[in-house]
Amino acid sequence: MLTEFDLIKRYFAQHSVTDPRIALGIGDDCALLNPTPGMQLAISSDMLVAGRHFFADADPVLLGHKCLAVNLSDLAAMGATPLAFTLALALPEANPAWLQGFSGGLLTLADRHGCSLIGGDTTKGPLTISITIFGELPPGTALRRDAALVGDDIWVSGTLGDARLALAGYRDEVALDAAAHGQAALRMHQPTPRIALGLALRGIAHAALDISDGLSGDLGHILERSGVGASLLLDALPAGPVLQRQTQDLRRRFTLAGGDDYELCFTAPVARRDAVLAAAATAGTPVTRIGRIEAAPGLRLLDAQGQAVALTISSFDHFSTP
Ligand code: ADP
Ligand code: MG
Repeated sequence: MLTEFDLIKRYFAQHSVTDPRIALGIGDDCALLNPTPGMQLAISSDMLVAGRHFFADADPVLLGHKCLAVNLSDLAAMGATPLAFTLALALPEANPAWLQGFSGGLLTLADRHGCSLIGGDTTKGPLTISITIFGELPPGTALRRDAALVGDDIWVSGTLGDARLALAGYRDEVALDAAAHGQAALRMHQPTPRIALGLALRGIAHAALDISDGLSGDLGHILERSGVGASLLLDALPAGPVLQRQTQDLRRRFTLAGGDDYELCFTAPVARRDAVLAAAATAGTPVTRIGRIEAAPGLRLLDAQGQAVALTISSFDHFSTP
């Protein structure tokens, strides 16, 4: 029988932390951090609930990856360097195979980003995974949502919509062959946090955020916080490789309001286009220019000829989406 303390020791405290920024890790009442002198802390929490954010029988390795990836993605969207994270876990049972897979997926991604697990809490209950992540950045360099300026280009990293397409496949909303569904599902289960891009965009981008609930809704947060509007070139939105093979209507809908993409959407001055492309090359992450920040409030969708497109879209909201 695995006790709570065996469980923490065996699955979550197996790495000895060597990061000099971590003065004390798992095992005491608090962890102790020594952020790099002069740096500001960036802090974010994300909670994943079984049956809400993932299927209860989800592969634990992929789940471990994803729940840290979505938190790292928030640091990326701020332009912060990962430092450490805590893990609060409610588990229905102490299942060694599940814990082995989950902690493996989680800590592999943590190691890749030099982000140490420094503490947490473990309790019995419906499967819920809550992570608080800490990053650091020089004061004044954060890529904030309220920093978009009229005239900025709007950019997006990577591709959009394949995660939403995978969900549509699970729900039998679209017919996908097994290979295509498998490829799209990887985007849903294994998002890539764009940490290197976020860092490379410091000093170049104005506003940024990561796309979790769909481009149009998330971009709406930048518009609202910055007091501006925007036009988007609907057919410039970069569709994922599987979505590219679908109809134009599906491509438009899922790139615009897909959700679960974890790409960065950011704005930058027109004069910094070359700098944005150089940052993307440094980070090894492609970026696409998709629109323009404008003074008139609201979000306008344009086709390739510059004509307005009427498309009713809604982004995901936990309390208004059934
Ligand atoms: P407390 O009694 O202060 O809540 P606990 O007995 O819950 O402490 O936890 C003991 C130590 O194990 C603490 O350092 C805590 O941060 C750490 N810990 C508990 N659960 C986890 C977890 N899921 N992952 C990592 N560390 C954990
Ligand atoms: Mg506790």
